[in-house]
Amino acid sequence: MIKVVVTGAAGRMGREVVRAVSRTPGMTVAGAVDLGHNGEDAGSHAGIGPLGVVVRPDLVNVLEETRAEVMVDFTTASAAVQNIRDAIECRVRPVVGTTGIPPEELQELGRLSREKGVGGVIAPNFAIGAVLMMHFAGIAARYLPAAEVIELHHNQKIDAPSGTALKTAEIIAANRGDATSEDGTQVVKLDGARGGTLSDIRIHSIRLPGLVAHQEVIFGGLGQTLSIRHDSISRESFMPGVIMGIKKVMELREIVFGLDKLIF
Ligand code: NAP
Repeated sequence: MIKVVVTGAAGRMGREVVRAVSRTPGMTVAGAVDLGHNGEDAGSHAGIGPLGVVVRPDLVNVLEETRAEVMVDFTTASAAVQNIRDAIECRVRPVVGTTGIPPEELQELGRLSREKGVGGVIAPNFAIGAVLMMHFAGIAARYLPAAEVIELHHNQKIDAPSGTALKTAEIIAANRGDATSEDGTQVVKLDGARGGTLSDIRIHSIRLPGLVAHQEVIFGGLGQTLSIRHDSISRESFMPGVIMGIKKVMELREIVFGLDKLIF
């Protein structure tokens, strides 16, 4: 039975993780950590009835007392960095979906995990369809190098653009080589109208109530366009990837970045 501690257990994704782990054979919610809802039962808060696991704020104590094997983190970028460090120091494997962690912090966490021999998974998108969308975008970029990324999320998301959009732009840039797309825009009448740029690829972020997590990559070529779109229509879409991460991390000896590393 894999013992899992969920950090951010009272949040939107954390509650989904509590539900998914508790219904998956071979793993159990051993602990729940969050800044809010302390003293509440994590299962009741997640809407599945009491699990006998109380939400607490003190991660290191919870990791030690429960003898956890895996920590699943969906919190905030600044909180996650310390949580991952604490987990590695306690020899607990981090499985992390939190986005917005700066690249230099990710590098440092990778180094720490190698030094300690503790496996982990950090993935900006745990939806398997989204991983395929990024993979297909990489293939398309070899033939249609002009591309823009439009990502659409619920209006409570605190970072923009999404980690997935940034990763997609990196993949497109790596696959299209030296080819660049022409942009005739000379006058930008409204700041941000052409979106943000990563490696010369435009990323546009839309935030609206009613959305969950969506992304469209549009490629343009002579007389044609190709759109590759993925829609997470509920947060359940991330759970098969998270459960896969919990199982596979047991075999790892360092942090891997991206769910693709576990799939392809
Ligand atoms: P959310 O509803 O705001 O949940 C975050 C939770 O973390 C909140 O309950 C927050 O508590 C708690 N928290 C903050 N600092 C903490 C700490 N130091 N220790 C423990 N808990 C802490 O956000 P969400 O929508 O679940 O999203 C969480 C993260 O997951 C975001 O970075 C989002 O971009 C990412 N995400 C990733 C994927 C993926 O597939 N990788 C999918 C969806 C979302 P308070 O509210 O009390 O501060």
